[in-house]
Amino acid sequence: MGGFGSRLRNRLRQFMMGRYGTDKLNMVILCAGLIASVVGMFIHFAPVNLILTLVSYGLMGWAIFRTLSRNTYKRYQENRKYLMFLQRIKDREHRYYDCPRCRQQVRVPRGKGKISISCPKCKEKFIRKT
Ligand SMILES: [Zn+2]
Repeated sequence: MGGFGSRLRNRLRQFMMGRYGTDKLNMVILCAGLIASVVGMFIHFAPVNLILTLVSYGLMGWAIFRTLSRNTYKRYQENRKYLMFLQRIKDREHRYYDCPRCRQQVRVPRGKGKISISCPKCKEKFIRKT
């Protein structure tokens, strides 16, 4: 008893070896796909329904692709970008700018008017309104 279950788990572990698995971004993609398919159930206007169905399959396919992907570095970077994006939205006290030279993200306090920002990485100076 239990042999089949553990064999299945081993199989699954072997299958997932070297693959990315799931993350927060994947959850959001899956939820969006689910929402699209649920909304599609209530809209009977064929063209919209078709688009929602395609979007829903597309998103779910994307989530599955990310889970099974062997390019873990790239998937990790995608998730990191998403988390940074989330942080930018949540943070009401700062504004985020990308350095025009090296693309380094610079955080400055909001509501200070025009200020000169110097990049912590490459020391480039640029002026932005906060
Ligand atoms: Zn810079």
